[in-house]
Amino acid sequence: MNFVTSERNIQAAHEEAPRALTDMLGRTISYLRLSITDRCDLRCVYCMPKDMAFLPRKDVLDLEEIEKICAAFIRLGVKKIRLTGGEPLVRRNVMTLVEQLSGHLNGGGLDELTLTTNGTLLAKYADALRQHGMRRINVSLDTLNPESYASITRGGDVNDVIAGLRAAQESGLKVKINSLALKGINDHEFNALVEWCGARGFDLTFIEAMPMGDIGRCRVMSYMPASEVREELAQVWTLEETDHSTGGPSKYFTIKETGCKVGFISPLSGSFCEGCNRVRLTCTGQLFMCLGQGDSVDLREALREGRSVEDAIREGIFAKPKGHDFEYDRRSGCESGAVDRFMNVTGG
Ligand code: SAM
Ligand code: SF4
Repeated sequence: MNFVTSERNIQAAHEEAPRALTDMLGRTISYLRLSITDRCDLRCVYCMPKDMAFLPRKDVLDLEEIEKICAAFIRLGVKKIRLTGGEPLVRRNVMTLVEQLSGHLNGGGLDELTLTTNGTLLAKYADALRQHGMRRINVSLDTLNPESYASITRGGDVNDVIAGLRAAQESGLKVKINSLALKGINDHEFNALVEWCGARGFDLTFIEAMPMGDIGRCRVMSYMPASEVREELAQVWTLEETDHSTGGPSKYFTIKETGCKVGFISPLSGSFCEGCNRVRLTCTGQLFMCLGQGDSVDLREALREGRSVEDAIREGIFAKPKGHDFEYDRRSGCESGAVDRFMNVTGG
């Protein structure tokens, strides 16, 4: 990483008055999800096939390019950046990037720098993440059962994640757990997850599986609508309505017995696109305006050809699609409105 360039980027982003990024429907974009690698140390069955083909390394942005593009977003008014992937913590020199981006916090234009991780490497990185300004992170964990975890992730060890979560707590990071709701796979464990999270002070969000990328079978078989998850929890726990929001699509409830929050993200059974405030950048510099649509802008090309990255971002965001078209048809067993990109490419 070229530190001089980086300091200049931070200064420039700071000096220029932020101008709101708005799409043609009037939605203001203030949140960037950044997939810093499509690679991963796990192979979750709903996310990618066993023999996943990853993007060619030569196409991947280097850290300096990522930092320049982030600085452009911050100049344009983006306030929150989430590192994701793939597994962001497997990217070589990831902490150099975190350190550079953290320079935009504390009056440097950025309100929050955060991360979504599978947690396997958290024990190694939790302290450094906290030191570089992260305050809360999301950790994906669909089951507490070691066999079930190994099966869902095709070989992962749940104890690595549990050790990572302990390290995160000890370093002072606030944790939210993300669990995919998977019928016939982890649906008998939802109450155990609520209890486990409650005992540790973790909020928990259940997510509906989205049809992204060909995993060799239709996800409709394991699809479970958020309403069913909620009904199941309501048989055991007292779910109190709350207007708590993290600025995202989650609908939150407080679990009276534990004091922790439980959220539901329902891209299939509900609709949240009207209030969408985010865009996603892949590790090869493709800016996707919607998780569930193909519209993209090539920021790597703009950067490498010396064109204005800001103009490219504005152009793409102005034409942000109204929403996704994800749908499952249980009768035909089909996914429709699916996108061919895998979740690890676009960044979940
Ligand atoms: N590897 C990191 C992790 O697992 O947290 C970050 C990237 S992962 C793609 C981000 C989130 O996307 C995870 O919570 C994962 O469960 C979720 N995810 C993956 N494939 C999905 C799909 N097809 N539908 C819904 N969520 C999915
Ligand atoms: Fe890796 Fe995350 Fe996808 Fe699982 S969900 S395979 S951990 S990128």
